[in-house]
Amino acid sequence: MEGTNCQITTMDCVRTQKLRKIRDEIVNLTNSPLYEYRRKNNYFPVIGEGNHRAKLMFIGEAPGESEAKTGRPFCGAAGKILDELIESIGLKRADVYITNVVKDRPPNNRDPNPSEIALYGPFLQRQIEIIKPKVIATLGRFSTKYILEKFGLPEVSQSISVLHGKAINAKVGFGPCVIVPLYHPAVVLYSSTSRKILEEDFEILKKMIRG
Ligand code: URA
Repeated sequence: MEGTNCQITTMDCVRTQKLRKIRDEIVNLTNSPLYEYRRKNNYFPVIGEGNHRAKLMFIGEAPGESEAKTGRPFCGAAGKILDELIESIGLKRADVYITNVVKDRPPNNRDPNPSEIALYGPFLQRQIEIIKPKVIATLGRFSTKYILEKFGLPEVSQSISVLHGKAINAKVGFGPCVIVPLYHPAVVLYSSTSRKILEEDFEILKKMIRG
């Protein structure tokens, strides 16, 4: 029994060390087109946070202002909605892992561009390989496209309005994983009907992590 616990602890340590290495590399990512903007504004990169052994991983697009000021993903208005949705399926934020495709804030909340996605994407891929989630919930069209493309899934040609709430089976380096595309929680700030859709789609997540 003791031996088993020791082994789990060692694995946890290795996982945390690998995630810290990713953090250090991103902190020092001076070749990023977003690095100067981060430095000038005293922003932080937003690496990701949560359970390093999470069964469920959320992937957003890029940090907004609140996130860049604190270094925490989804801590602003969209984050409040995400927290409520996570709690609606009986989980706590600390149970899951939350990150973004792009780890630095693009100026004025503009969409991340393809070169930024290409630069930061490999860090996300490493995070996925370390955490090994059973279910990946992509938040919005950018992370959905990135993940479906990376995993070579034909659904990438379909729009988020078709894909949201669908469970898509993927084979990742560490084994099988289910991808569930979701609308970005920020849509709730502009349309009240989308909250209902997100709540229904979160029920699918609940089934997937239990199944
Ligand atoms: N929107 C995102 O996509 N990510 C965040 O961390 C915050 C808002």
